[in-house]
Amino acid sequence: MSITNIMIPDILKIRKDFPILDQKVNGKPLIYLDNAATSQRPQQVIDRINEFSLRINGNIHRATHFFANKTTEAYENARETLRSFLNAEETAEIIFTHGATESINLVAHSFGDLFIHRGDEVIVTEMEHHANIVPWQMMCERRGAKLRVLPFGDDGVLQLGLLDELLNEKTRIVAVAHVSNVLGTVNPIAEIISKAHLKNIPVLIDGAQGAPHFKTDVQELDCDFYVFSGHKMYGPTGIGVLYGKRKWLDQMPPFFGGGEMIDRVTMQKTTYNEIPYKFEAGTPHYVGAIGLAAAVDYLNNPELSLINHYENDLLSQATLRLKQIEGLKIYGEAPEKAGVLSFNIEGIHPFDLGTLLDQMGIAVRTGRLCADPVMDHYGVENMVRASFAFYNTAEEIETFYKALIRLKAMF
Ligand code: PMP
Repeated sequence: MSITNIMIPDILKIRKDFPILDQKVNGKPLIYLDNAATSQRPQQVIDRINEFSLRINGNIHRATHFFANKTTEAYENARETLRSFLNAEETAEIIFTHGATESINLVAHSFGDLFIHRGDEVIVTEMEHHANIVPWQMMCERRGAKLRVLPFGDDGVLQLGLLDELLNEKTRIVAVAHVSNVLGTVNPIAEIISKAHLKNIPVLIDGAQGAPHFKTDVQELDCDFYVFSGHKMYGPTGIGVLYGKRKWLDQMPPFFGGGEMIDRVTMQKTTYNEIPYKFEAGTPHYVGAIGLAAAVDYLNNPELSLINHYENDLLSQATLRLKQIEGLKIYGEAPEKAGVLSFNIEGIHPFDLGTLLDQMGIAVRTGRLCADPVMDHYGVENMVRASFAFYNTAEEIETFYKALIRLKAMF
């Protein structure tokens, strides 16, 4: 990898699509390195959202007037865009939720209520975000089931050899991150899925950090569920996706009750709608879904076909630079990583580092990164995390590196 010669789509042109980036923070040009928390939205997404606020708004599926029809059409087109993004077999397998967290809760509740009983087991990994631990823990408590954990090594790589021992006749589901939000590890999800499927065990992939970096083909991967959030992949907040195979979704009971998810209601009994509507109670965030589809359209731009390589180059550059800083420890050095670099510098509290970087216009995340078990693994209270998107530049990485050197000298 060469630091100066990054293979580059026309990044300066692309940056113009993100007006928010062209600002000063604390008198310094903004360097936004908190993309794993939330990414920024291109003008194309903002325009699409605005269009639906300025000129068209009608509640979907519920009326025959022009606005309602236009909005319904755009919402269902958005579902088709997301289907195509994931290469799901049918649009009915795409459920709009508020985000990855709600998607996982939906599966934990609905799948759990139907398929998980006393003494059964659920497998998660030690590197999961809280959103892919707590809903399963809550479900295990309700159902009298047991949460089993696949550990990772200090290098941030899952100990896959141990999975064979964990998977047994009591296992009902495996839930694993596509990409760790702390370690950046790209997990071998295809291998995990095929191991689980050998024993007829379904797998949920938490794609919150995967979807922003990779186009995933859920049919090729053969995952049973894939979840992600719009706001981490250049779309709006408050919208996300649950992909599920029809064979599961058809059987699973609804999660929320209310309008739209019903077929017929009497005071004695309610029958439910077909998927996906069975899982979309109430007025959905249709403006969000339309905005998310605009983000997918944006990502489909051929100019962005090289973003994976480009982001990898940024990550390699940042890793190389940070390793030159004495006393800096990087957490997670898996051979396959995406977009995330977590670290601490000896003698500097991560919060001080975050605050001082902010004064230099550099936005990073500090804290426990919603992953207490990862903090416990390394015996640390907090970490600093820099996370990259395709609109970051080699120059920004250099400025970040120099800022860390300056701060190190200050302490
Ligand atoms: N899983 C992972 C790996 C994440 O990084 C996040 C967000 N940090 C989530 C789940 C939850 O996403 P959201 O808060 O958008 O629901």
